[in-house]
Amino acid sequence: MQLPSAFITSLRGLPGFDEAAFLQVHTSGEKITSVRINPSKTDHLPIHVNSIPVPWTRYGFYLSERPPFTFDPLFHAGCYYVQEASSMFLEQALLQTTDCSQPLKVLDLCAAPGGKTTHLQSLLHPESLLVSNEVIRSRAAVLRDNVIKWGAENIAVTNNDPKDFEALPGFFDVVVVDAPCSGSGLFRRDEEAIDEWSENNVALCSQRQQRILADVLPALKEDGILIYSTCSYSEEEDEVLLKWLTETAGLEGLELKTEETWNIVPARSGNAFGYRFWPHLLKGEGFFIGVFRKKSTAAALGKYRASTKALPAKETAPLEKWISTTGLRFVSFGGKVYAWNEVLFESLDLVAQRLRVLYSGLLAGELMREKLVPDHALALSGRTAAAVIRAPLSKEAAIRYLQRKDISIEAAQKGWQLATFKDHPLGWINVLPNRVNNYYPKELRILKEYPSQER
Ligand code: SAM
Repeated sequence: MQLPSAFITSLRGLPGFDEAAFLQVHTSGEKITSVRINPSKTDHLPIHVNSIPVPWTRYGFYLSERPPFTFDPLFHAGCYYVQEASSMFLEQALLQTTDCSQPLKVLDLCAAPGGKTTHLQSLLHPESLLVSNEVIRSRAAVLRDNVIKWGAENIAVTNNDPKDFEALPGFFDVVVVDAPCSGSGLFRRDEEAIDEWSENNVALCSQRQQRILADVLPALKEDGILIYSTCSYSEEEDEVLLKWLTETAGLEGLELKTEETWNIVPARSGNAFGYRFWPHLLKGEGFFIGVFRKKSTAAALGKYRASTKALPAKETAPLEKWISTTGLRFVSFGGKVYAWNEVLFESLDLVAQRLRVLYSGLLAGELMREKLVPDHALALSGRTAAAVIRAPLSKEAAIRYLQRKDISIEAAQKGWQLATFKDHPLGWINVLPNRVNNYYPKELRILKEYPSQER
């Protein structure tokens, strides 16, 4: 691995940088694997390899080896998310500055593929609204799939430019900007990123980061919290932005507590507090984060009239046997029925009026001739009614199911059932008299052959 000399020169003098140790970790070939569990689906790590906790989060674990996640049905069931460990420090940034025992409105502005979004969802009060936005359409679709897999029902996935959020002035209590950056923090994992690195690109990223922050700040309420992070080591994308946020944009920098043993390096910048994660000092990739409080007032949201109509009870009656409907109202978009938590109804409606929403609440399915054709999202949600039949699968059958191959099961009853592995739903099947229809979504299916299936 050859790191550009202009890159190394640019890091000299930064707090925590040690050239020899930094170069050594980039050539050692060490690969760190870490995952974060989904507390709404499991209270323990469901992977059988040696593990140790990531110290700055209650949900993260380092694994002693990288198991083949593709062939673990619980990965597809959304029981955990494979995520780089340093980024999980978001938990400290949020919990040390925000009272998460209250419902909040939170925006994750640069959210795909969904690492921070799924983490935020686990930390927030369940009646919080999380708007997860991604400007690139194809990446927003991946974000939506990960939100569905996580089983969340309090998220709206949007596909907007940061500037579009000016339509929601002062709406959010917390805004997370995990900014697009030059990516040097991930060089160990992604060697191709090394070729794309240039001083010019760092300068362009820095300008873009400033533009993104300036565009989104009006959407943050007075006294609201801004969390800014990058996976770049460059001062122009890190400390320079912190300085701009306090000195020009008028935010107040907030200091975070870190344990000495974590080896996270504080990086002051004017009145702001940044935190540097160096791979030669801790078990994780390069990462940078700073937290702020907005001190200026925000413009008023303005009057709006609710435009989404909840479906009348007689239309939603067929849903009762599928979904535990307590606290939910049903709405219809493009012929599909979504469940919205009634306490979030007004906010979800407002977001739908002012942004481009790809997904919101929980997609229950499609009503056809007064019957529900259930959606995959409902299967993964943990909201299915108790009466829904479950079909437990062996590991081999679960993998065949996830490959969207034919499966056969010993079923006493016919009809729609939840295919499960170790009690965790994977998706829907429909048991007919002479065959089993596999409703695992085609676009999510495992394409590789399982080793024991190869001849
Ligand atoms: N937060 C994500 C996670 O934890 O999984 C990773 C986000 S990644 C560092 C930055 C994201 O910003 C990318 O998904 C990228 O598509 C998006 N992005 C690119 N250009 C952007 C822009 N001009 N404004 C906002 N987001 C942008």
